[in-house]
Amino acid sequence: MGAEQTLRLEDCINDVCPWSGDPVSADSLSLYRGQTVGFCNPGCRDKFEAATRLFESKMSAQKRKDDGNDW
Ligand SMILES: [Zn+2]
Repeated sequence: MGAEQTLRLEDCINDVCPWSGDPVSADSLSLYRGQTVGFCNPGCRDKFEAATRLFESKMSAQKRKDDGNDW
């Protein structure tokens, strides 16, 4: 609980939203690979989180498939 409260704008590695180029907003931060990344609004952040979640689930599915190979 409250984990998202630890994300701070001053820790954010980027100044502008990668989608729109607008300045990042303190209420639109996310954690990516241990770094705080920012977006101009929560909608942009949610779009990013949905994309990374999809990729990560695909990657772990791929890894499981590789692990399952028994040559
Ligand atoms: Zn944005």
